[in-house]
Amino acid sequence: LKPPPFAYADPRTVPEALEILARSGDEGKILAGGQSLVPLLNMRLAQPQVLVDLNRIGELAYIREETRAGVPGIAIGAMTRHRTVEHSSEIAERLPLLAEGIPWVGHPQIRNRGTIGGSIAHADPAAELPLIFRVLDGTATVQSVRGERAIPARDFFAYTFTPAIEPHELLAAVWFPYSPPRTGQAFLEVARRHGDFALVAVGVSLTLDAHNVVTDGRIAVGGAAPVPARAADAEAAIRGERPSLDLFREAGRLAAQAMEPTSDVHADAEYRRDVAGTLTYRALKLAWERIPRKEDG
Ligand SMILES: Cc1cc2nc3c(=O)[nH]c(=O)nc-3n(C[C@H](O)[C@H](O)[C@H](O)COP(=O)(O)OP(=O)(O)OC[C@H]3O[C@@H](n4cnc5c(N)ncnc54)[C@H](O)[C@@H]3O)c2cc1C
Repeated sequence: LKPPPFAYADPRTVPEALEILARSGDEGKILAGGQSLVPLLNMRLAQPQVLVDLNRIGELAYIREETRAGVPGIAIGAMTRHRTVEHSSEIAERLPLLAEGIPWVGHPQIRNRGTIGGSIAHADPAAELPLIFRVLDGTATVQSVRGERAIPARDFFAYTFTPAIEPHELLAAVWFPYSPPRTGQAFLEVARRHGDFALVAVGVSLTLDAHNVVTDGRIAVGGAAPVPARAADAEAAIRGERPSLDLFREAGRLAAQAMEPTSDVHADAEYRRDVAGTLTYRALKLAWERIPRKEDG
């Protein structure tokens, strides 16, 4: 299979890329690592007139500490490869959920080329990074010739494979806030083989106060809804409570109930719903175990 003809542009700077995207209107398409786009081109599921290759724009590849509105965190440039994030000691120390989830993205060869921006902009509901972006309440920085805007993760995924960005816009970076002390996190996935897309994946983040009460509990599920979904009812059920296995079982039940899985050749909807509940329970338990112990005050 071969892609249909297209014009090719390889800008060296972000402003140059934005100019080309603006000129291309709805017909331009960004090429990042090509791990999803090239198969789509070959299958003629995407037929852009102009391909805008970001691979020569060095300024889009970085990992750096960045404080936003007084909140410390890490900004990752869109063209940073998965593999760079996987091997970053800064990420391992400060964003452990991202470090735990990223080895689940395909295989090393895919992660050598695939980019953080490409994974998030592709908006695959079964992909690991969109899910982690949702749990950590990240923010996307999007640029166009008109300027820059920030999109919080909760507003970023409009629908399956549809990010809330326009064809003339470029996802420049994603930012993740650091989590407060006494936070435990966990990422769990069920796939047919390691490296396959998730049948279902769950990421959780659990924060306790000095009295071991949950002040913030976040649960996101991938592969079981049109977009990576937060399980709002399950989150509400654990907030303000003391952790227990019964509480987490109930959260798992509520999370499963809230999902809208579909059946396909890989798994049917009911199986996906069951797995979503079980993984939610297990991830909450694991996250809890990872919080440094402290006796009631
Ligand atoms: C065999 C195989 C297995 C895989 N397994 C997994 C897996 O288990 N989990 C998983 O998550 N992924 C998996 N992938 C996909 C892989 O992770 C891709 O790298 C990722 O989905 C897209 O990143 P990319 O940089 O390759 O983007 P590309 O393929 O270049 O682009 C993807 C889409 O995002 C858009 N885009 C890219 N960058 C930007 C930007 N900066 N701004 C705006 N739009 C942009 C493109 O226009 C395109 O629509 C797999 C791929 C293969 C080939």
